[in-house]
Amino acid sequence: MRPLRHSLMVVAAALVCATLVSLVRPAPARATSGRAPGLPAPKASPDSALASLLDTLRGNSGKLRARFLSPRLAAGLPVLRELFGEPVAQRAGVYTSALKDGPFHFITMRPFADKVQGRIGSYRIGTFPAERRAPRAQVTLAANSGSAAALRGQPDGFLEVTLANQDTRISEHFRLRDFLTKDQHSVWPKYLVLREPLLDKLELVLAELRDMGVAANQLKVMSGFRTPQYNAQGVGAGGRASDSRHQYGDAADVYVVNGSKDWMSDLNGDGRVDTRDARVIAQAAERVEQRYPELVGGVGIYKATSAHGPFVHIDVRGVRARWGEW
Ligand SMILES: [Zn+2]
Repeated sequence: MRPLRHSLMVVAAALVCATLVSLVRPAPARATSGRAPGLPAPKASPDSALASLLDTLRGNSGKLRARFLSPRLAAGLPVLRELFGEPVAQRAGVYTSALKDGPFHFITMRPFADKVQGRIGSYRIGTFPAERRAPRAQVTLAANSGSAAALRGQPDGFLEVTLANQDTRISEHFRLRDFLTKDQHSVWPKYLVLREPLLDKLELVLAELRDMGVAANQLKVMSGFRTPQYNAQGVGAGGRASDSRHQYGDAADVYVVNGSKDWMSDLNGDGRVDTRDARVIAQAAERVEQRYPELVGGVGIYKATSAHGPFVHIDVRGVRARWGEW
């Protein structure tokens, strides 16, 4: 990488990270440091600043390779426009930085308000619980103004997934398409709600399994995002929750695949595949939550049916929840 480009990247990364960090977590250090909000520490050398700021972008796992930006956020970061041009603030898409140790993607989302009568284009999404509780005009206003409190329970925007970008690696082991709702197979583009902390937690669970000595080639997502309209189809006894975390992009149902068969593996080595194997994944999630309380959430164990093997639901709802046969 040429020096000029490198320094531009340093500045860009610093500003982008500072802004993202200020958005995602309160920074009490700021009050005592006397620095202006959002500015990086002045004396850090560019390389160490870059390294530590990129660490932030890559999450606790160090394995995130993408950050998702609402158009409002993208527009509020001039440095992003310097890097990628005006489209980054105006057009949904994947904008990639070629960093020394691999690509990092900034993905501009479609605004929530682009969903009209439950659809974007011909892709059916449906109505979020928050929209049913508040008048639509109020929800759209809240989305456009970006009021955090008003936005609670409602996504910031939608990742636009196309035939061309569906294989984008958003973390070391996951691609955009892994989290799509499993319906409307011939409709493109599709739309996806996904939160980075979920990706971070899944990467940490996979790493934890390996640390526990469990063979885990692949953590497979059986169900990630579920559009409200898809989720509503399965609501009922033994089915989906009407206010499922899957609608908010912070939940995934997962299992470990080791061989060529797309089915849960025998993780505890007892010669059979059952809920005891799902429990191994749940225990890994438990350990991850102990180490990273900010990723706390739901962990549920599910048994096999004729349609699927045993699996574990993992989410980052912010409060601890446990269910199933622990
Ligand atoms: Zn689930």
